[in-house]
Amino acid sequence: MTLLDIPADSGFGLANLPYGVYSVAGGPRRCATRVGDVVVDLAVLLGDDDFAAGTLETFMAAGPRRWAQVREAIRAAVRADVPDAALHPVGEVTMHLPCEIADYVDFYASEHHASNLGRLFRPDNPDPLLPNWKHLPVGYHGRSSTIVVSGVDVVRPCGQRKGPNDPEPVFGPSVRLDIEAELGFLVGVGNDMGSSIGTGAADEHLFGAVIFNDWSARDIQAWEYVPLGPNLGKSFASSISPWVVPMAALEAARVPTPTQEPTPLPYLRMDEPWGLDIDLSVRWNGHEVSRPPYREMYWSPAQMLAHTTVNGARTRTGDIFASGTISGPGADQRGAFIELTWGGKEPVDVGGQERTFLLDGDTVTITATALGAGGERVSFGEVTASILPARC
Ligand code: CA
Repeated sequence: MTLLDIPADSGFGLANLPYGVYSVAGGPRRCATRVGDVVVDLAVLLGDDDFAAGTLETFMAAGPRRWAQVREAIRAAVRADVPDAALHPVGEVTMHLPCEIADYVDFYASEHHASNLGRLFRPDNPDPLLPNWKHLPVGYHGRSSTIVVSGVDVVRPCGQRKGPNDPEPVFGPSVRLDIEAELGFLVGVGNDMGSSIGTGAADEHLFGAVIFNDWSARDIQAWEYVPLGPNLGKSFASSISPWVVPMAALEAARVPTPTQEPTPLPYLRMDEPWGLDIDLSVRWNGHEVSRPPYREMYWSPAQMLAHTTVNGARTRTGDIFASGTISGPGADQRGAFIELTWGGKEPVDVGGQERTFLLDGDTVTITATALGAGGERVSFGEVTASILPARC
């Protein structure tokens, strides 16, 4: 038995207690939480069969009362003697997706990002926001089957592109490969087809959050996206961080969203729409190039979930919806390279090298922390991946 050291300044103290799925040395997948730099097996720690399988789905589907009970049980158990068989140094495990990803919707909830992209993609339009943007959280349906966990490298996609001066479209590897630093929210309890989830009921359904990197091939996207939105420019890969931070661990990080004016329609209205005070950091080949602030996001996660289901669409355990690129007002707060480099015209310094878009071999790592209970920081860990050469 071991009495765990629980460092409050690690980001993985008692205010966090995230959930993940790990394996050791090619063994079976198992559910865990993380305390400091130790991965703690939940089936061994709690003797709870819901954690014996290599996925969190059963627990995620059980709902908020059970989530709260288990969180208290973990909190008590990790402060007592822990069986040695439950403990693994974080460096000795392989992390996996926390669950099978069901459906995936990606939103566009940052006014700063949407405005910057409007200026870049529609430079002749006097209003960078389209007329619907402040009336509904704009989103598109993405590809869940290519959502991968941190550490899985990304092959440069191939596709059609047609630059403004190209007479005809051409096919080949993307030459404007980009990132989008986002948060992803995982649904625990879904809703039946024909029903909807009101803005006040998000806590009954949302299980937790991860960091989400929505890899984006800007050249493929720019040519294909009119009039139906992104498709192959996005669907080749999205990466998530492996530790799911429970929504309960993010209660201390709740802050009001920016003022929503005009007032949204009743199904999106909230007395006090809440956002989250979460600081992200984007590192390109180890050099920090941006610090996107989640608190700047215009639409609340509760509003995005309400909008997703207001037409009677079903959600399921393992559904994920991503926030859209997180960009703040500052030039060093932009969560995509197309914004940071202003369409590739203003290269950024990456350790003495100039970069606009991603080169083969480049590595992007996104980290995030939130304010937790008692003033502790709550860490999301990281999502990282490197770019492999195209295969076309
Ligand atoms: Ca996105």
